[in-house]
Amino acid sequence: MTKTCIICGEPTGSREHLFPAALGGRRTNKGIYCADHNNEYSGLAGIISAQLALFNALIGVVGDHASETKPIAMNDLASGREVELSNSRIRFKDPKVISQEAEGNTIVMKMAFSSRKEAKEWVLEQKAKGFDVQVTGQGQRIQYHVGTTHARITLGGNEEGLRAIGYIAQTFLAHFFPDVARLPELQGIRDYTLKNVGSGFVWWNFETPDDLPVNKFPFGHRVIVGLNKEDGTAYARLSLFSTLNFSVLFGTVPVKASQSVITDIDPLAKSPPNDVFSWNEGTAKGAVSKPENLSASLAEAISSGNAQARINDLMQRIVEFERQTAARAILRKIAGTASLTEVDRDKLFSNIVSSEAQRVFRLMRYIADEYKSKATKPEERLICDLLDRVVALDPRSANGLTEEASRSLVIACEALKKQMSEDFKAGILDQDRMEMLIGGGPGAYIVGTAILQPIIMTFPER
Ligand SMILES: [Zn+2]
Repeated sequence: MTKTCIICGEPTGSREHLFPAALGGRRTNKGIYCADHNNEYSGLAGIISAQLALFNALIGVVGDHASETKPIAMNDLASGREVELSNSRIRFKDPKVISQEAEGNTIVMKMAFSSRKEAKEWVLEQKAKGFDVQVTGQGQRIQYHVGTTHARITLGGNEEGLRAIGYIAQTFLAHFFPDVARLPELQGIRDYTLKNVGSGFVWWNFETPDDLPVNKFPFGHRVIVGLNKEDGTAYARLSLFSTLNFSVLFGTVPVKASQSVITDIDPLAKSPPNDVFSWNEGTAKGAVSKPENLSASLAEAISSGNAQARINDLMQRIVEFERQTAARAILRKIAGTASLTEVDRDKLFSNIVSSEAQRVFRLMRYIADEYKSKATKPEERLICDLLDRVVALDPRSANGLTEEASRSLVIACEALKKQMSEDFKAGILDQDRMEMLIGGGPGAYIVGTAILQPIIMTFPER
């Protein structure tokens, strides 16, 4: 049987991603849309992907057919320069001119690039413009430390975002209930997703039913499509990153028996088969009913702070996940180093900690902020001022820090390295301990003690 497009009834053949490729969807179905309608919907898939780009970049989602995480543009407050974030790492978008001097007919420029590749490309670009460029030296690799970066995100709250959600849900309905998706009764949702006619099909939902199982994947997306015999409706629920939840009511259809299909999607899986987990339920799991006011749940969540709390919780989980991944990578580097001489092992730990210097600097800032929030006595305030200097940024310098902050960072790195070495010798440097050292309380304590010691020593003895 030839499959027909759920919109126009013409033969299909266009390979459609069930879940948007940019959000980590890897599965396709050729029997849902014709080429034209697949094309017409690509804008909507793009909108939802753009709205969620920050989370994609933080978690390190690699879109289907892509080779790396798509970076997102942010602004570094200290330098005012545009930075790019991907995989929780930040790099400058453009090369920076550090100095520029004329020597006769030649201009000598000192520049900073984010990578060798960027430097090469820049040289080629200048040559293409007709400049005779000669590279006189490679310079050194310096890690630049950023303070606070800002990105503005709009989440699926606007009508286009909601339509994009409706379109994803509609595609899943067509996949699991192909006959239902083609019913004339559901013309309304098809008109809504395709032509933006009508409304009231999709809304934010912050109240998730208790009987739904936990998502199979960390940061997993979930799509539930179902038929509810009780009120004769076809419905869907969408959860993005297990955090942003929406309800969809496709319409009223003939239902013989309640049933539903739940699909959990792992945005971090690079390929099938373990990228999705799908199962049938013999009931209308997570059935939805239309609230009187479609924006009530969102409005309530915003005014109560629940919406912000959800986002904060997601961000917190991303930070923890990133730290776990980093700790695992470090442990891999030090596995089997017991046979190294103490000097060599020391060198290895030094390299590891300095390549994680941004993390150490984050611990320093954390200590400074913590101390500040608790300081009340005058001498404590004095220490706050000193701590401020210890973590001060200087966007004009090569590494983004003042000289004093750079010195403190070296001290902090050294202290952390020493602790890692000792823990390794004591046989207690496991995953958990490593996570704590590079981003937890024990790490902050070691770093804090190290940077506070020189400060406290500057006080005269009483
Ligand atoms: Zn069509």
